[in-house]
Amino acid sequence: QDIPAVPQACAIIDLDAIRNNVEALRARAGTAEVMAVVKADGYSHGLVPSARAALTGGASRLGVAVLEEAFALRTAGITAPVLAWLAVPGAPYRRAIDEDVDLSVHTIGQLNEIANAATVSGRAAHIHLKVDTGMARGGAATDDWPGLVEQARARELDGLVRIAGIWSHLACADQPGEPSIGRQLMVFDEALEVAARGGVRPDVRHIANSAATLHLPESHYDMVRPGIATYGVDPLPAEHRSHTVALRPAMTLGARLAQVKRVPAGTPVSYGHTYATAGDTTLGVVPLGYADGVPRSASGTGSVQVHGHRCAIAGRVCMDQFVVDIGDEPAEPGDIVVLFGPGDHGEPTAADWAQAAGTIAYETLTRIGGRIVRTYT
Ligand code: PLP
Repeated sequence: QDIPAVPQACAIIDLDAIRNNVEALRARAGTAEVMAVVKADGYSHGLVPSARAALTGGASRLGVAVLEEAFALRTAGITAPVLAWLAVPGAPYRRAIDEDVDLSVHTIGQLNEIANAATVSGRAAHIHLKVDTGMARGGAATDDWPGLVEQARARELDGLVRIAGIWSHLACADQPGEPSIGRQLMVFDEALEVAARGGVRPDVRHIANSAATLHLPESHYDMVRPGIATYGVDPLPAEHRSHTVALRPAMTLGARLAQVKRVPAGTPVSYGHTYATAGDTTLGVVPLGYADGVPRSASGTGSVQVHGHRCAIAGRVCMDQFVVDIGDEPAEPGDIVVLFGPGDHGEPTAADWAQAAGTIAYETLTRIGGRIVRTYT
């Protein structure tokens, strides 16, 4: 792989991959719009570059969690519609309205706060009403839904809000066949009917994350909200995939060996001496650790690639570094180590790391820390 000459480590982000992934997701979504989810610094791929690549690939909207992420997009000059879905009382709603950021609304209290901010702003807030269809996370409980719809419609008639969307989130989209999926879609349909009877005509109805975009066409409605698939990762294991959408992982994480040394058989390595070399071998020091997002729980289970060969992590991952067992392959300080990449050169993928660490690729990617330089190709 082509790792640029950086001092220690870098994450190489393939923006064409993001663009192509979104194009493929858009084709999969048919007539539905694509809202690319770029929260958490674009799943660590960089908020603004990821957003631009996704928009070039045909996303018509962007989704983020917190308002600061939406403001950062606006500061960068991105004018596409942005929805921010996680705010607390006292959030800077006035600024959100002034900067044309769509807001998710879950309660009448929050609706009132936003309507007050709209009064001050002199512009209608664009809101997406969220109904909790069965995840018991954010959103109005179904009992509270008719009241929220009624109040929101009243504020709409007052010119204080514009109901741009109605939405929800699936708890088990990555488990096709799980009965809760059908139940959630049914509750969503009922909530949409309640809203329609109340005179609400949203531009977009949306519930599908990546897994649903890829595997549940009946969940697409007017818009899909893929996050992890934008970055090239299918949340389902290969054996459960029911589509042929070509996704390419967009991030390669590489580093250069800080030190190399030859050691005899039986040499205990790293904190706690949990690993001992099986034979005479070469150890390499990789200058990345759990402070950079290399999972400590992958100690003893994960591997990296050096000169095209897989090498095991030797012993515990430390805060800033870990040791790899290179065997008898020639290696020198400065040589390239690939932690993960698309996987087509035999290197591990983020999904492999997640498996080694007992977690999901979402966590592997989003934990990649701020010390690691991002390089864009
Ligand atoms: N929509 C919401 C509300 C989310 O919180 C997320 C991410 O967790 C997404 C969409 C995207 O999910 P995924 O990355 O599984 O596509």
